[in-house]
Amino acid sequence: MTLPALLQLNPTYRDYVWGGQRLRPGPDLTAEAWIIYEGNQVIDLGLTLSEASARYRADLLGSKAAQRAAAGRFPLLIKLLDAAQWLSLQVHPNDEQAVQLEGPAASGKTEAWHILEAAPAARLIAGLQPGTQGLAQAIRDGSIIDLARYVDVQAGDTIFMPPGTIHAIGPGMLLYEVQQNSDHTYRVYDWGRPETPTRRLHIDKSIAVAQAQAAPVPLARPSLGDGQAQTLCQSAYFSLALLACNTRPADLDTRGESFHALTVIQGRARVTCEGQAIELGQYQSLIVPACSGAYQVQPLEPCQVLIAAAE
Ligand SMILES: [Zn+2]
Repeated sequence: MTLPALLQLNPTYRDYVWGGQRLRPGPDLTAEAWIIYEGNQVIDLGLTLSEASARYRADLLGSKAAQRAAAGRFPLLIKLLDAAQWLSLQVHPNDEQAVQLEGPAASGKTEAWHILEAAPAARLIAGLQPGTQGLAQAIRDGSIIDLARYVDVQAGDTIFMPPGTIHAIGPGMLLYEVQQNSDHTYRVYDWGRPETPTRRLHIDKSIAVAQAQAAPVPLARPSLGDGQAQTLCQSAYFSLALLACNTRPADLDTRGESFHALTVIQGRARVTCEGQAIELGQYQSLIVPACSGAYQVQPLEPCQVLIAAAE
């Protein structure tokens, strides 16, 4: 089967203790929707995204990502997180540290967040107070929480989180997270919640990778013109742009360099490419494969769309 011009995935969900009710209405709490994830099924293709990545390689991923990604790996993971309580304080390794600590196939985790909804006093933890010393001891005895740097956030903020930065997402926010496709998260502190086999602290690994001076990179909010995309964040692993379409459609192009992963965060849009058309409502996503080239986003209602691409 030839690769379709547009791909939609069935999202998968994760339930953790800190989840809320915004991602999947119903009696159960849902913490995370994994909207772009290699384990998800591609609708109408009969393959997971991982299997599609192995089969279509550069056609799907783009030439750069296809060279970098191991066979069958999709380079990015994109989630929506609904936090009703504090998440654990955590830290991620960089690529080098991941190989040292987890083995030759491991990769680090660089990530960025875009805040979708935030309660009036919502805040998160990003880095530590200036001049922090005795980091290892503070991680061992749990006093690390007293050294945390709290940051107020509002809907529309974007935060880039380099590896080595101690961080935690706080209650009352819904956020979009784009990251390297890596499992390596080290839990530094968990607010006194009981440790269970699936919820342990990783003290030694946290000490190995946490940096006292690491801090999020503050990013300016772009001013959005109608039908224009603006870069929010650019890293060695991914870029993230925000497209606003009030009345005008936008013409975009993957140029064969990378797939584009689109997520509507406000309003409603129709994405068309090579005669294929898919309508997306709020928090729905699709992937434009790298080989699809030119495509168009038309607003059915004034809309905002996040566009993630691999580097
Ligand atoms: Zn993280």
